Amino acid sequence: MPQFDAILFDFDGVLADTEPVHCACWAEVLKPFGVALDWDYYRDHAVGIDDKDMLRALAARSSPPLDWRTLFAEFPAKQELFRQRTLSRPPFLSALDRLLGDLHRTYSLAVVTSSARAEIDPLLAAGGLRHHFDAVVGAEDVARFKPDPEPYRKAAELLRARTPLVVEDSPAGLASGRAAGFAVLPIAAPGEMPALLARRLHQT
Ligand SMILES: [Mg+2]
Repeated sequence: MPQFDAILFDFDGVLADTEPVHCACWAEVLKPFGVALDWDYYRDHAVGIDDKDMLRALAARSSPPLDWRTLFAEFPAKQELFRQRTLSRPPFLSALDRLLGDLHRTYSLAVVTSSARAEIDPLLAAGGLRHHFDAVVGAEDVARFKPDPEPYRKAAELLRARTPLVVEDSPAGLASGRAAGFAVLPIAAPGEMPALLARRLHQT
């Protein structure tokens, strides 16, 4: 019998190489407010956390400080920019479709993301991957974000999974999976996910 009954994937940085795209889109819409956002800052402070928390931090360190809600008002513009860029070039590994198809024969699968489902669903559809997942838990579906355990608990509940494996790239996401009481597989980039996951699933 398999060690796990489900696999819960983070989206950005695990299934899709989207973090640099998110960063570039935010940087572009925040620039008119005098907010400089570069990849080093984004990678170290914004990956895996809720957008509002990132904007609160950016607003507070601006000089003079800004109201974070002024920045959050740019969210629709950022979403549209992200949608255009990623739909024109879906950021998935070519091997992902086959990998997910193989996994889905044995495991329930879900996406658990701090991004809005409105951002994720069109991308999964464009990549032809949506049908592999039994559930997608996005920012709209929870009251508390990663590192709170709620997103992973919610996904496990939807899948009726008792022993899921959480696959994550960010400290906040790993903390969320661990706080939910689940096994976690840390990865550093989408490109290394298939090999690390195969190794973990075949451990006895
Ligand atoms: Mg991530």
